[in-house]
Amino acid sequence: MAGRFAPSPTGDLHLGNLRTALVAALLARTTGREFIIRMEDLDLVTASSDFEDRQIEDLAAIGVTTSRQIVRQSERFELYRQAISQLTDSGDAYPCYCSRREIRAEIEAAARAPHGNLPDGAYPGTCRDLTASQRAEREAEGRQPALRLRTSGETYVVNDLVAGRFVGGIDDVVLARSDGVPAYNLAVVVDDAAQGIDQVVRGDDLLSSTPRQMHLQHLLGLPTPEYAHVPLVLGEMGSRLAKRDGAITLRELLKRGETVNSVRDAIAQSIGCQPVKSDSDPFAEWSAHWSLARLSREPMYLSAFDLAVDS
Ligand code: GLU
Repeated sequence: MAGRFAPSPTGDLHLGNLRTALVAALLARTTGREFIIRMEDLDLVTASSDFEDRQIEDLAAIGVTTSRQIVRQSERFELYRQAISQLTDSGDAYPCYCSRREIRAEIEAAARAPHGNLPDGAYPGTCRDLTASQRAEREAEGRQPALRLRTSGETYVVNDLVAGRFVGGIDDVVLARSDGVPAYNLAVVVDDAAQGIDQVVRGDDLLSSTPRQMHLQHLLGLPTPEYAHVPLVLGEMGSRLAKRDGAITLRELLKRGETVNSVRDAIAQSIGCQPVKSDSDPFAEWSAHWSLARLSREPMYLSAFDLAVDS
């Protein structure tokens, strides 16, 4: 049994990421699970080992550590390829030659038609039933296909530990990009199962992707973990955190005169932890009293942190 935090090392973690990480580590600890950190560095163009080191340092500064070796997705392509072959062999995958722009145009054109409970930006299925000669035509144009999952309107129910019951449809998600890089939804499902993860804690922007992942688990014969999607920290206008919100990473806050402990304690307080009495091991102190019921189900505004966050 294990829980995990799985950041993408493409920048410094912001307060929202750090807060979710602390929930993940505490929920694993308080439910008797191991805690794993996984680096989701599939996209080698944007991921860097420098950011990986900084993220691990920042997580440790707020008390989030692991005793297990840190796993990198970039080192596991072979595992993902096996899963992709399995889905191709079972007829659950097909090549897709659409460019992003073509997909966007199709989605806009279809926007007037009802589309049930599909996630936003769902692929309209353009390449799903191409004939062999239509495929050959596109190949002859020099188009490199991505690989997509063949779906038929399935719906999944997520009984989320934080968000409650969520019902979501699935679409023909990308399994492998046209450059051969495995896609996020595929890799996450393979890794969660391979690492024995039965508890997934992450930001609630990924709740709508969970039905897709449950479908992949079903097709690959893998177990479905329990899910806890943590409400995001929002900027002043209710927007997702962005650099313009100012001083939202630990390092920026330190430059503004906050201390590691003040940031750590503000994050802990924001998820319902008791203030720590001594400095011996705050994580152990928090885990003695904390439970998920203490976490608010509402999104949190950046301004609600007692920190020098405003720009
Ligand atoms: N790597 C993803 C992110 O940083 C999280 C994926 C997950 O937890 O499933 O947004």
